[in-house]
Amino acid sequence: MGKYKVAINILLLSVVCYYLLHASSIIEYKNDIVIKIHVGTFTSIALTIIISLFFIKYIFLKYESNNTNKITEDIVETKEKYVKRAERMIDRWSGKQQQVDRKNPTNEMILHRNSVDQDYSTFYNETPKLTPILTECEVLVVGGGPSGISAALAAKRTGADTILLEKFGCFGGVITTVGMETIGWYRYEGTVESQGGIGIEMERIAAKMGGTIKWPYNDSECLDADYFKIVADHLLTEAGVRPILHCSAVEVMLENNQIIGIITESKSGRLAIRAKRVIDCTGDADIAYLAGCSYRKTPKDEMLGVSTIFSCSNINKERFLQYTEDNPATYADWSGLWTQETSGKEDQLRTPYLDKEFQKAKDLGIIPKTSPIGGSWSSLTDAGEATNLNLVYMTNYDCTNVMDLTKAEMEGRKETLHAILALKHIVPGFEKAKLRNFGMTLGCRDSRKIIARYNLTGDDVKNQAKFYDSVGIFPEFIDGYNIIILPTSGRYFEVPYGCLLPLEIDNLLVAGRCVAGDKISHAAMRNMAACTVTGQGAGVAAAISLRQGVTTSQVDIELVQNELIRQGVRIH
Ligand SMILES: Cc1cc2nc3c(=O)[nH]c(=O)nc-3n(C[C@H](O)[C@H](O)[C@H](O)COP(=O)(O)OP(=O)(O)OC[C@H]3O[C@@H](n4cnc5c(N)ncnc54)[C@H](O)[C@@H]3O)c2cc1C
Repeated sequence: MGKYKVAINILLLSVVCYYLLHASSIIEYKNDIVIKIHVGTFTSIALTIIISLFFIKYIFLKYESNNTNKITEDIVETKEKYVKRAERMIDRWSGKQQQVDRKNPTNEMILHRNSVDQDYSTFYNETPKLTPILTECEVLVVGGGPSGISAALAAKRTGADTILLEKFGCFGGVITTVGMETIGWYRYEGTVESQGGIGIEMERIAAKMGGTIKWPYNDSECLDADYFKIVADHLLTEAGVRPILHCSAVEVMLENNQIIGIITESKSGRLAIRAKRVIDCTGDADIAYLAGCSYRKTPKDEMLGVSTIFSCSNINKERFLQYTEDNPATYADWSGLWTQETSGKEDQLRTPYLDKEFQKAKDLGIIPKTSPIGGSWSSLTDAGEATNLNLVYMTNYDCTNVMDLTKAEMEGRKETLHAILALKHIVPGFEKAKLRNFGMTLGCRDSRKIIARYNLTGDDVKNQAKFYDSVGIFPEFIDGYNIIILPTSGRYFEVPYGCLLPLEIDNLLVAGRCVAGDKISHAAMRNMAACTVTGQGAGVAAAISLRQGVTTSQVDIELVQNELIRQGVRIH
């Protein structure tokens, strides 16, 4: 405040001098200089000063009182925020079904199985069938991706008889069926994350078994997608998890708002599996959906895109690496197909990104101007293979709509040929590239997210949220919906058990990319390593709830956390 007062005094003094010099007359009297001031001028100067002083005092008082009000308001708001958060936690753990924060963007509708999500006009009435029971178990995990493997290992290691069921012929989910190998690419200098837990274990075991290649720009490992099938088999077999492959869950068995098993379809026909606890790790929340749980889905035109992942052989690795050294890409360049928000600190970090090369191919008429191509490369083998080329990104597809899936699979293959054509013409090292393979399936990033007892928010992820019922931590790593924030600051948030608990059905837990949250929290929780955190949390909670003889919503969170800590997980 002192600074302003000095400035105002100087201003007033300048006004006085101005008046003195311009409104007064200077007379020389017997060698002395006399300044003669007119009475009128003097009065007007005095009046100006008095009025100005009143005016300034009024402004200062107003400013100071506004400022004090604002500080008080801030304190009250922060206090209210924390009191509300504490109340929510107490409610959750006293078993009360709390008011769910439905403050999702207005364009995200809350849906459930009977919602008119897909518009059918005619129906066929299936006759009821007697379904043989294939087997039963304590914990049934549906979906064998990063979350499913973690859930099954964690449940079994906590002592539950556990089955892991998967619709494809291998475990690994997006890693092995889509071909995405980069489980730890976010791990730049400064990242704080759990040093234990199943995600880290998967990476370490894969590296030990010779199934990884170093990621180009930090110390993380890329998993060899094919080799990871063997790593997953090894981990699950060693732990004693009962595997079932080539088998899809298509219906649920419910009794008194609790799940008691699922119906499957496979080459063996339609078979039931009874289970005391079910964990939905299908990525799309298929089980929660079939059980009638509410969920949210981002409107199709705002959903994250789908990708066809492919790999090429016959690459000149040295020549290509030299090209990337001469033309380094940074995160500031991640904006070819979309506008990209960063927090600034990422902008100058190196990234294996190709975009301007495809723009050039379009300008030269090598590929169509409309081709949705641009993205990243990762592993390069000494045998001249570029595996995991994540270059075809297609939008406006809903992965829970079979006709969209069909169209996207075919468009993805067509666009892959365009991508290879452009690489051959424009990118040194790729001149003789050949298509080596496609992922077994299209890669889907975004579909159903359940509505749970707690719905994680972008605010939680960006503000280092802490939760009483934390089942693990995850770094502030956001990748999606035009935002890329890398965890170079050491910031991290806690993942609450509440976001795995569907509202309507007990003894069903949901883990992986379909846990409850908004768009921004999804852009963090969809990452493989985050999926392993929710998977492990769900597996342990399911097993402990059995041991305690309570449902999954009533489980003692302290017991769950103690077991997670015993398994190497960092909780807070
Ligand atoms: C193209 C692409 C690139 C990505 N890049 C990265 C990356 O670089 N790094 C990163 O960390 N994350 C990345 N992600 C995100 C991440 O891979 C996924 O979000 C993550 O794998 C989700 O794990 P999940 O276990 O929830 O589901 P998924 O990995 O999708 O696994 C679900 C499993 O359930 C099976 N399943 C589904 N429905 C049924 C059913 N009804 N019955 C039986 N089985 C079923 C599926 O076959 C699948 O194996 C990427 C995703 C995509 C699509």
